[in-house]
Amino acid sequence: MLTSDKFHDECGVVAIFAHPEAEKLAYLGLHALQHRGQESAGVVTSDGLTSRVHKAMGSVADIFTEDVLSKIRGTLAIGHTRYSTAGDSALLNAQPILVQSNKGSIAVAHNGNLVNALQVRARLESQGSIFQTNSDTEVIVHLIALSKEHTLPEAMADALRRVEGAFSLVMMSNDRIFAVRDPRGFRPLAMGRIPALEGQKRDTIVFASETCAFDLIGATYERDVKPGELIVVGPEGVSSRFYSTAAPQSSCIFEHVYFSRPDSVVFGRAVQTSREELGRELAREAPVDADLVVPVPDSGVTAAVGYAAESGLPFRFALIRNHYVGRTFIEPSQSVRDFGVKLKLNPVRSLLEGKRVVLIDDSIVRGTTSRKIVRMIRSAGATEVHMRISCPPTISPCFYGVDTPSKKQLIAANKSVEEIREYIGADSLAYLSLEGLKRACGEGEQISYCSACYTGKYPTDIIDVEEILPAATRR
Ligand code: AMP
Repeated sequence: MLTSDKFHDECGVVAIFAHPEAEKLAYLGLHALQHRGQESAGVVTSDGLTSRVHKAMGSVADIFTEDVLSKIRGTLAIGHTRYSTAGDSALLNAQPILVQSNKGSIAVAHNGNLVNALQVRARLESQGSIFQTNSDTEVIVHLIALSKEHTLPEAMADALRRVEGAFSLVMMSNDRIFAVRDPRGFRPLAMGRIPALEGQKRDTIVFASETCAFDLIGATYERDVKPGELIVVGPEGVSSRFYSTAAPQSSCIFEHVYFSRPDSVVFGRAVQTSREELGRELAREAPVDADLVVPVPDSGVTAAVGYAAESGLPFRFALIRNHYVGRTFIEPSQSVRDFGVKLKLNPVRSLLEGKRVVLIDDSIVRGTTSRKIVRMIRSAGATEVHMRISCPPTISPCFYGVDTPSKKQLIAANKSVEEIREYIGADSLAYLSLEGLKRACGEGEQISYCSACYTGKYPTDIIDVEEILPAATRR
């Protein structure tokens, strides 16, 4: 049986159509999306006739020097930034994927995760296809190349109907950009516009996982790519088609809880609004008699602002984050307790001494970070530590593009809230309810969310992971 517990990429994508410095805008867009993946990044450009690619391991700012950008100049570009779990981090799997096919040059950048990639791949391999990566995205490239449809948009539509799961894609031929969302709209993808420069014939059309990328490159948000939609931008202008009938919308609620930046509009809703509201809901559901509200930076900050406002308790930055932590640090031979967390966070003793603290974070995954932070806050003199989490317990892994460990490692899948409280060493622990979460994120107004990580109810038939999930949790 084919199983995959490893293609859980967290990614950001960007696309630029018709700009004299498309490569630079793509690079800047990726820089704004760096939080969505820090392991590798890549840009493919085209001057209308020829496509060029540069991909490397590392952060966007390190990869794209002046020299690199000068070698990939173009007027069209797509870009990708990626985080993948260990083992899949090879440069081989960095995106965009660029191939020369019977339908010309095709470049693909993917945010999400296919749930039938292994199955489709096995079928294609049995028919003679040779794969160069072990990324699920390559399946889409093969399906496009093998499609009997003659035009590229039709071949793409044909390919997209054969894959299941989460995919927000930007694709590029030598002279066109294509933007796609899966029929359930799991991952975000927004479209924007930069007014034509003087002497330029047309506006520049851009796409990005989050609107914070538009702010940096001077683009205005126009709309989201709709679930099931394929937008084509070419010399003839912008056209849209639906390659699939829409399925019930299942946009990822975790984008609003943690993943997206608060300055982005995601699924048509400001992340800041949701996140502050998460804190307010949490304060109403789980109040505490305490002296201070302290966020775990950066993930807990905006919810803590909401919690403090609703509870009337003072908000204090009593944990300071060091932003200059690279991938690895050399530990002294006499090992320091909680070294990893201490590199990143340090408590402010003068604020914490003798205080009863409400500590806010967005989630507890394995529980190891919270345990260390609680210990740190106590050792800085806090008399009580009350942990509040701005979402429900994470009980099930994500198969739609967010990196989560398997059920075995998810603490809330294996322990009760009281057992978790004891494990992390807090005086009290409360999570936000599912109802509170959905209300805070505006469920029902315009958006329907996937909250499978909190419920175990997956909106797709999960094919590649049958061995991991008991049949009862599939639907
Ligand atoms: P843990 O020690 O595994 O409980 O980690 C909890 C911390 O990881 C919290 O501060 C979260 O903000 C952060 N976190 C939650 N989900 C993710 C994710 N998918 N990727 C990276 N960090 C995450």
